[in-house]
Amino acid sequence: MKVKDIAQYLSSVAPLQYQENYDNAGLIVGDSDMELTGVLLCLDSTEAVLEEAIQKKCNMVVAHHPIVFKGLKSFTGANYVERVIIKAIKHNIALYASHTNLDNMLVDGVNTKIAQKLGLVNTEILAPKNALLSKLSVFVPSSAAEAVRDALFKAGAGAIANYSECSFNTSGIGSFKASDSANPYVGSKGVRHYEKEEKIEVVCLKHQQRKIIHALGKAHPYETVAYDLIAMENQYQDIGSGLVGELSSSQDAQSFLRSLKKTFQLKMLKHTALLGRPIKRVAVCGGSGSFLLNKAIAAKADVFITADYKYHQYFDADNQLIIADIGHFESEQYTIELFYELLTQKFINFAFYCTEINTNPINYI
Ligand SMILES: [Zn+2]
Repeated sequence: MKVKDIAQYLSSVAPLQYQENYDNAGLIVGDSDMELTGVLLCLDSTEAVLEEAIQKKCNMVVAHHPIVFKGLKSFTGANYVERVIIKAIKHNIALYASHTNLDNMLVDGVNTKIAQKLGLVNTEILAPKNALLSKLSVFVPSSAAEAVRDALFKAGAGAIANYSECSFNTSGIGSFKASDSANPYVGSKGVRHYEKEEKIEVVCLKHQQRKIIHALGKAHPYETVAYDLIAMENQYQDIGSGLVGELSSSQDAQSFLRSLKKTFQLKMLKHTALLGRPIKRVAVCGGSGSFLLNKAIAAKADVFITADYKYHQYFDADNQLIIADIGHFESEQYTIELFYELLTQKFINFAFYCTEINTNPINYI
């Protein structure tokens, strides 16, 4: 098994196109054709984690947080980022990160894992990403329409919520005149030709567009394929920031916070005032989620579980919900378990290890 097998699989679970623009998810260090000896899973690829990878004979580290976010100008080991990169290259260790792209997935995402730990049901994305969908319309000779539909569906086109193979089809007459240098599938050069055609319309998700257009080109019999690819305003509900769901039954706020503390093994939980009402709807965002507060309020959440809140931001709860700041590392800790489950289900009998190092840079006394 090679580095690219892991990289390709993880980017099929959480496509890199869905990372935020400040992010740097993907393969950061390493040759994608390198044969793997073992893979170590962690939140942060620190020097200690790389040392652990060497000990465990792992030549790939999969982390949630990318070690590099922006361009590096020197590699002198002046800071921990440079030292980690140098160490990885020296020891032939590939570094891969699945970060905000993994945060943004409703299926097998960071927040879904948090929701699972809390026992939330009826979960949905708090802030779905915009501009993820496009509409493909293609004109196909009727005789080839079914084969083209098959190819489009196989490449992922036409998936809407719980339905696949969705398309709209209309029949009509297409016309074209082939030039002398053309090689027409039907008709003669220099003569206007009329052909019975179907217009097939399907929706496409952003990360599948290239694959779908490629499949279209291969399945379509014409030398030149006439198609429109149009961006849609429709929101795609399965990709975006944060998540909101419900507890199977309401809980008293005090006891909910106590069980939250237990589930995430928290040494400390910072929260705003309790509101004298039970907890039923729960919004979550692993890591720094304060930007989603208004979405959590609009979703009628009783509590918003996230991290990295600053003093003044706590006031924004404004008696509308409880903000519960459980710590950045703590909120994302189960991402390692998520990586482990995904990878061991896909690649049975390969050496995957969860780090034994606590990389939380924050300590409590
Ligand atoms: Zn994080």
